[in-house]
Amino acid sequence: MTASRFLKEFSRECREYPNRIAYFTSRGGAADSINYGDLDRKSNALAAFLKKEAPQGKPIVVYGHKSPLMLVSFLAAAKAGLPYAPVDVAYPSDRVADILEQIDHPLVLSLADAPFAVDVALANRVLEANDVLAICESGESVSEESWVSGDDIFYLLFTSGSTGRPKGVQMPSRCVDSFMDYFGKLFPVGQDRISFNRVPYTFDVSLFDIVGALSSGYTLFALESECEKSMSASFEALASSGLTTWVSTPSYIEMCLADPSFDAQLLPRLDTIILCGEVFRNTAAVKLIDRFPNARIFNTYGPTETQAVTDIEVTRELAEQLNPLPVGYLNPEVRAVIRDVETGEIVPQGQMGEVYLEGATVSLGYFGRSDLTDAVFSVTTDENGEPIRAYKTGDKGYLDGQGRLYCLGRLDFQVKLNGFRVELGDVEQGLVSLPLVKEAVVLAAEKDGKATHLVAHVQLADPAAEPTFKTGQQIKSELRQILPDYMVPKKIVFHDGFVLNVNGKIDRKALA
Ligand code: AMP
Repeated sequence: MTASRFLKEFSRECREYPNRIAYFTSRGGAADSINYGDLDRKSNALAAFLKKEAPQGKPIVVYGHKSPLMLVSFLAAAKAGLPYAPVDVAYPSDRVADILEQIDHPLVLSLADAPFAVDVALANRVLEANDVLAICESGESVSEESWVSGDDIFYLLFTSGSTGRPKGVQMPSRCVDSFMDYFGKLFPVGQDRISFNRVPYTFDVSLFDIVGALSSGYTLFALESECEKSMSASFEALASSGLTTWVSTPSYIEMCLADPSFDAQLLPRLDTIILCGEVFRNTAAVKLIDRFPNARIFNTYGPTETQAVTDIEVTRELAEQLNPLPVGYLNPEVRAVIRDVETGEIVPQGQMGEVYLEGATVSLGYFGRSDLTDAVFSVTTDENGEPIRAYKTGDKGYLDGQGRLYCLGRLDFQVKLNGFRVELGDVEQGLVSLPLVKEAVVLAAEKDGKATHLVAHVQLADPAAEPTFKTGQQIKSELRQILPDYMVPKKIVFHDGFVLNVNGKIDRKALA
């Protein structure tokens, strides 16, 4: 099996342009930037260490947010032939502990500013940023034979699970290579390209940054957390970054568009805008075209389980003619099959059904969860009779006569909140695990076909308790101990009991 082509392309960039900046942040310090040569050298040294010291075959947990060391660590794991699992500092310690338990004592690279605040007994070993920095200077290296290849897992992304536990999507090296090929054909390559690394590494949209940009010699630019909190500071930093490529969720760019100064004057070099992860509304598209008349704007789509698999350039004509916007044409190595939701039969073209994605970028399934994997992944055959993997997305959609895919919402209880993927069941499990709560149903409030916030309908454990504003605050604060902030419902509505439907389940429709 040939070693990761992505790592080969990345190494070629490092050899040819060692002094080119690979990554920098708005903080602007020496430690906040790294060039290609150093990224290569440091990741080689860390790879040599991981190969010797890390439990073999087990994913390396990389805990942190945005920093050059995060990229060094991802690349080092892949060069050592090991998967990496990014875990963001936004996750509460219970959730991090759950991930460590699922992986069963992984080595943890803790790269956050604060020390690792999770039970270290759950890890094989925890190395803090200073330890990692020292290892990066060892001068050691590994050969290509050590690199991940073929079906070896390249990365593991933990996403919200309906049963209340995050599930780890395993993506093999060959899928990463396929995504790199796809990116390379779609977007400009070459020097002097500066791309916005906006989303956290726990979100698959960041693959545009890690895989696409780093194999194409781009420079990545990220806002550090403090700067990110203020729109004016963010705009100032973005303006001086020289950005040419934008990658984010539609929600984030819509937030920026709310400020009239977000336009081509602010970002004069911006010529490519890639949006992914949730519905891109026509109104936002038209606004964006008005503000950035010379930029090419792309709507792209794909679940974590398949990576981004469709793309379409959104022109004014398209945005005015097609509402909702299509999510686009398929990566040539992937096909979409639309099946009847009840029978599973393939429906005629143009008819709505459940979207199944089949082909080169479909994940190998969920880490350690063959039950969950078997429920949504299968093996089918391509046109030549060769086996290919298929993923049942849970998305409702159809293909038009031009081969463009449309995605029109979910068939299950998964929602997108500002681009974050949330299983409502995950939040409900969190709520009922609190002593205060007996029963809970969580719904998403929507505006113009897009979820705006979560509403929790709650029955208290103590039937005599009189719920007050404070009770709601207490529930939210306890929930924050076990769920990331974005999963905590904005509104809590108390009920004495719930109406059941004919199947004896809580009637969600009646609640809505
Ligand atoms: P994630 O696994 O976080 O990438 O979320 C994938 C899900 O987000 C998909 O299954 C869709 O439901 C939704 N999604 C992603 N991109 C788009 C898009 N461009 N338009 C509409 N929905 C999208």
